[in-house]
Amino acid sequence: MRIEKDYELKKHTTFQIGGKADIVCFPQTADELVEALKEYPDALVLGNGSDVLISSDGVDGAVIITTEINHFEISGTRVTADCGVKAPILSRSAAEQGLSGMEFMFCIPGTIGGLVYMNASAHSQSIAEIFTSCKVFDIEEKTVKTLKKADMKFAYRKTVLSDKKYIVLSAEFELKQSNTEEVKALMERNAEFRKQKQPSLALPNAGSVFKNPENDSAGRLLEKAGVKAKIIGGAKVWENHANFIVNIGYASSNDVLKLMYKMYNEVKVRYTIELHPEVKFFGRANEEEKEIWQTLTSN
Ligand SMILES: Cc1cc2nc3c(=O)[nH]c(=O)nc-3n(C[C@H](O)[C@H](O)[C@H](O)COP(=O)(O)OP(=O)(O)OC[C@H]3O[C@@H](n4cnc5c(N)ncnc54)[C@H](O)[C@@H]3O)c2cc1C
Repeated sequence: MRIEKDYELKKHTTFQIGGKADIVCFPQTADELVEALKEYPDALVLGNGSDVLISSDGVDGAVIITTEINHFEISGTRVTADCGVKAPILSRSAAEQGLSGMEFMFCIPGTIGGLVYMNASAHSQSIAEIFTSCKVFDIEEKTVKTLKKADMKFAYRKTVLSDKKYIVLSAEFELKQSNTEEVKALMERNAEFRKQKQPSLALPNAGSVFKNPENDSAGRLLEKAGVKAKIIGGAKVWENHANFIVNIGYASSNDVLKLMYKMYNEVKVRYTIELHPEVKFFGRANEEEKEIWQTLTSN
């Protein structure tokens, strides 16, 4: 297994923000991931780092990055994928086989482990709809288990994995037989729709900053609250959609957290609605960062 010391995590997040970790493991197989988790049970496990804000002061302890565990198989309508497989690659491969159900994943720059963890969704499709089971490593019991759909407690951006220390090793999905043209046409329509609504990764970002509150849209509330184009340090609210923060150069985690707090507060004051972050913050936090993160996640 490849192990890097003093590794800069910003190379590994779509925000391009993040200080150093003392040790970063890059397992190449599920067995090596289990080995790494036994050695470092408290490690931060990252997929493609597309939904995280990592502290610019770095991370205590070890980090395990899964992107080199990337084998997958398609047999009939069944797809089995390792946790580190990139969602757009799997989506495209399913399309080549004329399989429908993974079109939404085409523009999500995460790994299968991250998508299952987050119950990722878009364009009226979700992980929950196609998921049949996953293999996980239970950090407390130090055993490999199989979780079925009913065990997962899929909800909006939430699964059983949010509460229990399970690490996804691989996952299995059941797709529907369709035809390649139709599947690709839907992927293209989705991609076109996103061009207006979402910054490309040429503007480093971590996707939607806040979750949608019940029966409303975080983007709509933030836009009405007038936060579009607000800047703190190197972090800016994207001018085309107010639920994205883009790193316009040298943004620190502190800049992003302060801007998140401003966005949260403007909506709270105006609408008495408290937005909850979709992006997850990890690493060494100073007092100010701890306070902001606690406020943002306290309800
Ligand atoms: C441009 C852009 C567009 C996006 N669009 C969407 C969208 O349409 N829909 C959507 O839902 N999300 C979207 N996202 C957010 C993000 O891509 C997804 O949440 C994705 O599922 C995160 O995957 P990842 O591998 O990058 O996870 P990471 O960011 O690396 O990690 C996210 C969380 O998952 C955990 N995790 C990662 N791997 C594992 C594993 N193997 N086992 C257990 N836990 C694990 C991490 O510990 C962390 O808590 C978007 C992001 C960007 C930057």
